[in-house]
Amino acid sequence: MRETTVPTHWYSISADLPFKIPRHHRRNHPHGTSEPVDIRPQLPLSLYRHGAGDDRFIEIPTDVRQAYEQWRPTPLMRAFGLEKALDAPARIYYKNEGTSPTGSHKLNTALAQASSYRDAGITHLTTGTGAGQWGTALAMACQRFGLQCTVFMTACSYHQKPYRKTLIELYGGRVVSSPSGLTEIGRRIQSQEPDSDGGMSIANAEAIELARTSEATRFAVGSGENHVLTHQTVVGEEAVLQMKSTADFPDVVVAAVGAGSNFAGIAFPFYRQARIAARQVRLIAVESASCPKLTRGRYAWDFSDLSYVTPLVKMYTLGHDFKVPAIYSGGLRYHGTSALISAMYEHGLIEAVAYSEEEVFEAARLFTRTEGIVMAPESAHAVCAVVGEAQRAKDEGREPCILFNLSGHGLLDLGAYEAFLGDRLEKRTVSDQEIMKSLARLPAQEDATEPSEERDLETDSHRS
Ligand SMILES: *Cc1c(COP(=O)(O)O)cnc(C)c1O
Repeated sequence: MRETTVPTHWYSISADLPFKIPRHHRRNHPHGTSEPVDIRPQLPLSLYRHGAGDDRFIEIPTDVRQAYEQWRPTPLMRAFGLEKALDAPARIYYKNEGTSPTGSHKLNTALAQASSYRDAGITHLTTGTGAGQWGTALAMACQRFGLQCTVFMTACSYHQKPYRKTLIELYGGRVVSSPSGLTEIGRRIQSQEPDSDGGMSIANAEAIELARTSEATRFAVGSGENHVLTHQTVVGEEAVLQMKSTADFPDVVVAAVGAGSNFAGIAFPFYRQARIAARQVRLIAVESASCPKLTRGRYAWDFSDLSYVTPLVKMYTLGHDFKVPAIYSGGLRYHGTSALISAMYEHGLIEAVAYSEEEVFEAARLFTRTEGIVMAPESAHAVCAVVGEAQRAKDEGREPCILFNLSGHGLLDLGAYEAFLGDRLEKRTVSDQEIMKSLARLPAQEDATEPSEERDLETDSHRS
């Protein structure tokens, strides 16, 4: 199923949604010491447009498409081995994003962003990374387009995944364990909590602080923002074409959800295709039971990081300082999820389920033994849901077509697999009390009203 070529366009779902997505809202945290700063207007206009939702289709720039052609289209495979093992009448397909040079879907947006920033005259990108997949992808993309790259890696992953650090350095990037002594926020957290595992919101806050020290430096974000979700739709656009060549169409599309980009990437184009064909397609976002923002969080205005200088986002969240257990699926350790995915969930357009690490690694082992591919623990969340769907369908006498996104390979996650095989996975549960405590620290919601159309600061700042 490789005969298709790389799509020429990304898809922006906002054009097809029956409601407006609440815009990011500028307001500073009452405890914040920094001056009001909004990093979003610093987005190059091109990236802003990729996420603005004015156009349904956005042409992929030539240099980005050429870069994609190195490994895209990624294979769409039928999981015959898994189907047989489950003895369920489901037809299971998966899109393998683990075949990218850096090993995951993250490279799709990293290349698009590096190209846009370079065109805007930026010479240095900073970022935060959880599992290290995003940092690796950005380092490679920066190398390709001639930019410097600094990656703040959560201390948790920095120690769990030393080879990610090596890879980033091999690609020419600089890696710093977060919280670090390089930034004010890093030093503050180090002094409050010397053994901090770090977290995505801390790593991003550090990257933002560093980016603010120089004109030609910008903070790049690996997931969650609208433009990132748009870039990832190259995955689903390909899958739409590839599914056509099988003459099959998914009844269910499944993907893991961190901040939401790999889910959006595979699911959004099928949302459109289902509408065109007047069919039903269920879109299932799978989260970690240790970071259950959709299934147990609240739809509220919250900070996307701990810098207190970025705008509030209306999203499903566990609270910006929720301490996510140090699970092996570092890419899912984010307290919230994107505004787009959150709004779709609130409107009932997508479903969500959560699985524990033990269940997830079981599913990953089954997949390795039936399909031969070792996947990232993040991706295995999707397999867990696929297995559940297939078994339920069998019980109910249905024969669904299920498609999932295998977001990355797990060849640098063998430490995690070793812990699983050695029965050393820690049981981690999140109590209602912890969630309630964290949600009690959400910013005051009554202040977070949406700016009206005329006073749309975001757009204004781009016009000036
Ligand atoms: C980052 C990552 C995820 C989570 O991705 P989001 O796009 O933020 O939802 C899933 N799988 C892999 C392999 C990742 O690297």
